Amino acid sequence: MTIPKQLKIGGILVDVKFVDDEDINKDCGEANFKTNTIKISNRLNGNNLELTLLHEMIHHIDPAMSESRVELYSRALYQALKDNNFI
Ligand SMILES: [Zn+2]
Repeated sequence: MTIPKQLKIGGILVDVKFVDDEDINKDCGEANFKTNTIKISNRLNGNNLELTLLHEMIHHIDPAMSESRVELYSRALYQALKDNNFI
C-alpha cells in the first residue's frame, strides 16, 4: 500500500509525515489537530504502518473518541479492509 503524503479527512487536508521515534510523544504515531498532521514512526512498515495510519485517521475523524475506542475501530476496520481485499 502506498502511503500518501497528504490525506483529506472530513474536508480538511492532513499532512502525513514520517519521523524518528523521538519526534513522537508515545506509541508509533501521533495525530495533531492544530497542525492537521499525522506523524508516523519511520521504522514502521507493512501491516503495522497501515494499521497505524488508519488509527491516526480515526483520531482525526473523531478527536473526542477515547484511545481504547480508536484502537478497537482501527483494528476492526483494518481487518475488514484486509479480509475483503480493499487493501
Ligand atoms: Zn491513538
